[in-house]
Amino acid sequence: MRKPIVAGNWKMNKTRAEATALLAGIKAEVAGLSAVEIVACVPFTDLDVAGQALKGTNIALGAQNIHWAEKGAFTGEISAAMLKELGVTYVIIGHSERRQYFGETDESVNKRTKAALAAGLQPIVCVGETLAEREAGQTTQVVERQVRAGLAGLTGADWDKLVIAYEPVWAIGTGKTATTAQAQEVHACIRRLLGELAGAEAAAQIRIQYGGSMKPDNAKELISQPDIDGGLIGGASLEAKSFADIVRGALR
Ligand code: PEP
Repeated sequence: MRKPIVAGNWKMNKTRAEATALLAGIKAEVAGLSAVEIVACVPFTDLDVAGQALKGTNIALGAQNIHWAEKGAFTGEISAAMLKELGVTYVIIGHSERRQYFGETDESVNKRTKAALAAGLQPIVCVGETLAEREAGQTTQVVERQVRAGLAGLTGADWDKLVIAYEPVWAIGTGKTATTAQAQEVHACIRRLLGELAGAEAAAQIRIQYGGSMKPDNAKELISQPDIDGGLIGGASLEAKSFADIVRGALR
């Protein structure tokens, strides 16, 4: 019913030449594979070469952030129009590293999400609890707050474009993965909440990815869970074979 979606989050890795080589490898690995939506979220400086490399392929181009204003005095920021011009169709919003190191809040996540949707881009909105929050038994509460605030004001067709990434912060880049049961529990909880916010029909269509040390050896089991619709992949997306193996693990 929901087409799985596997997105690579390259973070601040790969020069243009390195990006071109990595994409050539990924393209060769996943050629003709159409049952999974595949996205490469590359650094801003790689967007133009990546856009050229991905034209006419089964891999969509993604960015890692977006500003909410159309233009103006926002040094260091990038607008929706700038991303669209380069062929971007997906954008990661509210990654925990943005929240932790760059002061992103649920409110700024909400503004960025609305700007992306208004421009016809598909947001991948990241939510997830820290280790301290999990240990304090606050996982559900934290994720619910992030979803409610980050998605406040979305209406109608917005919901069809939305992708959510549940990424427990303690699992990102640490080699610690949530168990399938832990991940499925939070995904189901997010979907129930989406039912309340968007209606049952829309909630049943929204893809919810898992992210946090997803690797070829754990992807299949995680993505086989009823409410896990793919992955947002950091470290393992930087190597063509491991990223492609995860994509193959998402085949249903
Ligand atoms: C991420 O950065 O979104 C992520 C999930 O990273 P990693 O796969 O390296 O844990």
